[in-house]
Amino acid sequence: MTEKLYNENAYLTAFEARVLSVTEGKGGYLVETDATAFFPEGGGQGADHGTLGGFSVLDVQEREGKILHLLDGAPTVGETLHGEVDFSLRFERMQCHTGEHIVSGILHRLYGAENVGFHLGDIVTLDIDTVVDRAMLDRVEDLANEAVFKNIPVEITYPAPEELASMTYRAKLDLTENVRIVTIEGVDACACCAPHVARTGEIGLIKILEFEKHRGGTRIWMQAGARALLDYREKYRNIAAIGAALSVKQHESAEAVERLLDANAQLEYEFKQHRLRAAAARADGLGTTEGSLAVFLEEDASYDELRALCLAARDRVGGVTAALSKNGASYRYVMSSAHFAIEERLSLIHRALMGRGGGRGGIVQGTLGASEEEIRSYFSKL
Ligand SMILES: [Zn+2]
Repeated sequence: MTEKLYNENAYLTAFEARVLSVTEGKGGYLVETDATAFFPEGGGQGADHGTLGGFSVLDVQEREGKILHLLDGAPTVGETLHGEVDFSLRFERMQCHTGEHIVSGILHRLYGAENVGFHLGDIVTLDIDTVVDRAMLDRVEDLANEAVFKNIPVEITYPAPEELASMTYRAKLDLTENVRIVTIEGVDACACCAPHVARTGEIGLIKILEFEKHRGGTRIWMQAGARALLDYREKYRNIAAIGAALSVKQHESAEAVERLLDANAQLEYEFKQHRLRAAAARADGLGTTEGSLAVFLEEDASYDELRALCLAARDRVGGVTAALSKNGASYRYVMSSAHFAIEERLSLIHRALMGRGGGRGGIVQGTLGASEEEIRSYFSKL
């Protein structure tokens, strides 16, 4: 068994330990020591980083009470190593982790919610078995930060089994022996083996971010401590830039963006109508044709524009009216005739001009693979 120094002191970052075994592992060497301050991956939290005997600690895993460090080099069995934990990462996690206890404890007390999932990555994700809304989470956030401001001690105890039986605490596993209870008086009591801050004031800030319905309950994203500050800084810069760009006060940015999107949608609609009218107006200059007619609009004209032109022109055309526009390697077309059902002649036209498409009600649309020259020549003889 490795002595878990982090259990007694979450702030211990430098230690000495003797090497008990070294085996080759995936991407390095698995080193077991008689003691460690490195917290292994577990319970939704990643392993600590740092150095051990001058080697980089790439990963830390617990196997049947033994803590195995994955190092990028091999020390000698029996040798004493100096270990140093990357405390900035560890402390950020301690802030987030303890913040999650507070939020889960309050969710439990206010709404009877059970925590059914936890992940501490760049962001804290927690799942509860209860459906909550924004107003409920605002209340939780207020109380959670109140608990931070009160700077309540975070106490670690190992109650005897009989004492444990009479206690109320949150737990994921049904253990009775050697259970590590983390108590934040008046806020939460929870069985947990991870490192926590000593007093809630060290968390600084707890911010609930997003939430969504998840498996009959709710998934909640939150930040705490230094990460909450970074999150605020980034969001502040964003919202300040949006406010400045739109010449509105920051708290009116969302509304201003909505107005901008509405105005943009209106402009798009008007532009589209304008293009349709312009396409139809092209028909006026075409005069009358006894045979068929192929009219080319500018590149990437929409099917709606081609249709507008085709319908405006077809009464003055004796044969087939085709409106076309280059689109990539082929031509989009819309075809119609005022005098016969175009559908009946379509397969013939497709065969001649490498076409595909279809339609009904006397109007067809699709693509032609032939060149402009081939298309013009075909329709002049049709
Ligand atoms: Zn914990």
